[in-house]
Amino acid sequence: MGKCTRPPSAGCQPTNCLNCPSVSAELLAFRDEVSGCTRCALAQGRTQVVFGAGNPAAELMFVGEAPGFHEDKQGVPFVGQAGKLLEKLLAGIGLARDDVYICNVLKCRPPGNRDPQPEEIEACESHLFKQVELIRPRVVATLGNFATKLLSGRPTGITRVHGQEQEVELGGNRVMLYPLYHPAAALYTPKMLEVLASDFRRLPELMGRSLLPEPEPEPVLAAPQAAVQLGLF
Ligand code: SF4
Repeated sequence: MGKCTRPPSAGCQPTNCLNCPSVSAELLAFRDEVSGCTRCALAQGRTQVVFGAGNPAAELMFVGEAPGFHEDKQGVPFVGQAGKLLEKLLAGIGLARDDVYICNVLKCRPPGNRDPQPEEIEACESHLFKQVELIRPRVVATLGNFATKLLSGRPTGITRVHGQEQEVELGGNRVMLYPLYHPAAALYTPKMLEVLASDFRRLPELMGRSLLPEPEPEPVLAAPQAAVQLGLF
């Protein structure tokens, strides 16, 4: 793991710095907790929970849809052809798998790789939010429709929003959300692959961009009581 180069956040202490072993330990402890999750019916058909993998202090986090056949068997996200494409795209911007964190909206494989169901997403989403809270990435790249809709909180599909970054609050942190086409969809569609590769090339710039501070709440103005009272007499 590289040295943390981020400015300390308010209340940053050596014991909660992202590069502290205790924080990685917290992510590991959370992984162990999720490994026994039975919050939705997908628990019954899985080989194992696919929690996520990579650098626990990553500045760039990828969120896909759900584990597939190979991921379910190996317990690691993005290990098939789509994973190879993701690694190739990462290499193109000078990064490797271990530099980033990769996970999915759902941590268990839907049968036959069908789409995630709303109740499954609802049951699983707090695991993802907790991961974001613990990892505190600067940029969260959503891969495909399900992750994009969940994390943007909007119903707009990936075709319309890919490549358009937006700042959002996730897991108690301000992050840059960056929707991308899912590598699995781009694998067999050359035009989509071209767009994905082009959007991907903007990631270094986004990772270097400063995030705006959270807007201050509007001050509540006290009612000018004295003036009103004076006017009565
Ligand atoms: S998909 Fe998520 S909520 Fe459902 S059992 Fe797996 S970890 Fe739990």
